[in-house]
Amino acid sequence: MSNLKRLYRNYTRFSLTILGLAVAITALTLLTVRCTRKGVQQQPVEAPATDYSKVTTPEFNADSAYSYVVDQLAFGYRHPGTKGHEQCAAYIARRMSGWCDTVIVQPFSTTLWNGQTVQGKNIIASLSPEKEKRVVLVAHWDSRQWADHDTDTTNWRKPLLGANDGASGVAVLMEMARVMSAMQPNMGVDFVFFDVEDQGIPEWAGRYEDNTWCKGSQHWAKNPHRMFYTAEYGILYDMVGTATPRYTKEEISMNFAPGLMKKVWSCAEALGYGNVFVDELSGAILDDHLYVNQILRIPMIDIVQNSPMYSFDQNWHTVGDNKDAVDKNSLKIVATVSMKVIYGEK
Ligand SMILES: [Zn+2]
Repeated sequence: MSNLKRLYRNYTRFSLTILGLAVAITALTLLTVRCTRKGVQQQPVEAPATDYSKVTTPEFNADSAYSYVVDQLAFGYRHPGTKGHEQCAAYIARRMSGWCDTVIVQPFSTTLWNGQTVQGKNIIASLSPEKEKRVVLVAHWDSRQWADHDTDTTNWRKPLLGANDGASGVAVLMEMARVMSAMQPNMGVDFVFFDVEDQGIPEWAGRYEDNTWCKGSQHWAKNPHRMFYTAEYGILYDMVGTATPRYTKEEISMNFAPGLMKKVWSCAEALGYGNVFVDELSGAILDDHLYVNQILRIPMIDIVQNSPMYSFDQNWHTVGDNKDAVDKNSLKIVATVSMKVIYGEK
């Protein structure tokens, strides 16, 4: 994903649009209230909060999830054009087909910031595809080919393994698919693995361009795997394996999906993870959820590491993003909170 400082600039324009929309909606709401008050008085009814301690979910196995991180790293670098990329796509599709009812591999062609055309693959696996009410859980599976944030400049043009930035989110989706398939929630579930998320313009390029990141999610949002596809809401997992996980209320998530943010953060608080899902607003992050929100209009939040000392995480876009950068217990925390929310839905 992209460096957040740069996104702020782009996001200001976007915020102004949202602000304009908010003003219009408020005006419309006031108008509606005035109209309804002429008739019967409308009383807003607040839905009772779910008691998450009473919600039953399947048990997420941290060791099993971590083994999927190890499996992915064994393929080596997984950016488009590498053998590891090809092998990892086949691996994800094969494992998911063992747990899910349908698996669709969506190939696409895209041009990177440097003019290079690459072949990507989004992978969409579904539980109970016939159910109308759905939740979509997403992560990117490609690893970045330039360690452009490394402290050692000689590493800037080298690829990285992407244990946390890539493999951790994939592992969370895979283990959730395994345990959820045996004890399904009321909603149907779609697991979407996006490709070519992390091949955006490097810091050393000396310039910045919009939309060079998140190519797979841009493609899927414009060409969903099923016609008229929609879901109640979605969750994006990015860098969810840091040993000291810390998630804040990211701006795009708060703007597009405030209700879901409230639900997830209050569930985490109820489960004793208030120190992980921190009650703190943070700036916009250019990540896959932006395109899903903007184009498909599915409210989607980004659960992404936000270390107070670093950009995202100390290993972010460095060659240090290897198997030691992922703690299996962090994978379990984020999945446990997510499943409590999903299984709490009627
Ligand atoms: Zn990244």
